[in-house]
Amino acid sequence: MSESSDTTPSAEHGNDQNNDSWQQPFDYGSLLEGLNRYFSSRATRSISWRKSQLDAFLKLLNDNEKAIGEALYQDLGKCKHEAYVTEIGFLKSDIKHALKHLKKWTKAVKKSTPLVAQPAKSFVYPEPLGSVLIIGAWNYPLQLTLSPLIAAIAAGNCAVVKPSELAVNTSAIIAKLLPEYLDKKAVIVVEGGKEETSALLAQPFNKFFYTGGEQVGKIVMRAASEHLTPVTLELGGKSPCVIDSDIDFDIAANRIVWGKWMNAGQTCIAPDYVLIKQESLDEFVAALKKAIESQYSLDPKQQEEYGRVINQRHCQRLAGYLDGQNVIYGGQIDLDTCYVSPTLLLNPDPNSAIMQEEIFGPLLPIVVMPSKQSMADFINKRPPPLAAYLFTNDKSYEAEFIDNVAAGNMCINDCTMFMLNHALPFGGVGSSGMGRYHGKYGFDTFSHEKTVMKRSFIFENNFRYAPFTTFKKFMLNRFIG
Ligand code: NAD
Repeated sequence: MSESSDTTPSAEHGNDQNNDSWQQPFDYGSLLEGLNRYFSSRATRSISWRKSQLDAFLKLLNDNEKAIGEALYQDLGKCKHEAYVTEIGFLKSDIKHALKHLKKWTKAVKKSTPLVAQPAKSFVYPEPLGSVLIIGAWNYPLQLTLSPLIAAIAAGNCAVVKPSELAVNTSAIIAKLLPEYLDKKAVIVVEGGKEETSALLAQPFNKFFYTGGEQVGKIVMRAASEHLTPVTLELGGKSPCVIDSDIDFDIAANRIVWGKWMNAGQTCIAPDYVLIKQESLDEFVAALKKAIESQYSLDPKQQEEYGRVINQRHCQRLAGYLDGQNVIYGGQIDLDTCYVSPTLLLNPDPNSAIMQEEIFGPLLPIVVMPSKQSMADFINKRPPPLAAYLFTNDKSYEAEFIDNVAAGNMCINDCTMFMLNHALPFGGVGSSGMGRYHGKYGFDTFSHEKTVMKRSFIFENNFRYAPFTTFKKFMLNRFIG
């Protein structure tokens, strides 16, 4: 967005504080009651309402592409193209997919009925959950907040949306635009941080959908237990990237650089660290440096496509990871402008902070390992990551990796590409999250699958009624079990 913006993103960086201009109603109980009343009116259940909202959503994105791009640039230095591909365009594609499939998704699905329950017909009816709370994160502050909302609307729910306070400008534009385009009785934006989120979490919503770190994920889950609110937690983790010896290093390096340094490494599914054998190290590192320089030039700071770290606190956190490490490329940090250059580190101690915590920034440790087995063991000894990547030409290694390595999502010979496939569920496992969304999976996440069995009065089978004669028992036992 730099060509259309006369301010630099860094001007807003470093401000972790709450925005004083947030004017939120304090009575979140009344806010939820209002949503629940509207939900009870059944207005949001009709297909026509859902379609009209999704159409309006598309119009919101089309009409305001420039202003949204500016906000993303101010928050994260996202260039126009990246903002389109990973945020605005991503959401448009989400909406179009939902509009195309809505009729099918909302239909009752016929299921088979076993002999013991015959004659009958069995169905699953998708039902909206009610009023849901969506809590977004700052790294893709538009996509991660609004993609779940698209799914929630498609499924016929009312929603409160709480964007991340760290992406101040994107939060503000979401709060401004949603009420202008969407049904204000069904969708409400609450801006704010810990205090506002905690107050919202105390309310008996019908679903919490949270994207962010593990610690707050636990807070969300604790709050959910109070009202038995179902939760989806989209968390993070350390996503490994394993490099085999028999691959095209230039292609692999290009793909890894794209997946790692997009959004300045602040992507939950970016490769967090690389595992490689000694025999491939030199060739791989050379290819990686070449790919970094071809995509981001020798001076990424001057290149429009290279983003910035969200704020100074995160910059300092990243700088701390470099203490005492063997930095083999990059390592430049400018706190004032929240710039951290693409950085490679070799063989950090597995117990050092950079190998213990999710990096979530443009630093890539490369760890040399003696064997495939030691790499799998290294990954599996840690909590299951949100994503795992393997670059190989060996089909048996590929099969072994898929079978042996636990992860929320996987990609062979590329990074993060699964995000572009609406047919695939996206979500973590273990400490990288629970539940999933995208495409039909998002619709399902915001729906209850109501079982309906329809019987008639045509035939009465009395096997199940007492008294249980030997014959009845024999018949029932034959049909059940
Ligand atoms: P964040 O600081 O934006 O926090 C996320 C949300 O939690 C915000 O809306 C914030 O207001 C709220 N929050 C913060 N502290 C709170 C508290 N004490 N009580 C209640 N609410 C609170 O984001 P973050 O946590 O820095 O996000 C980074 C993490 O998110 C990384 O681990 C990353 O991997 C993960 N992430 C996951 C996904 C995914 O789709 N799985 C996407 C993006 C980020």
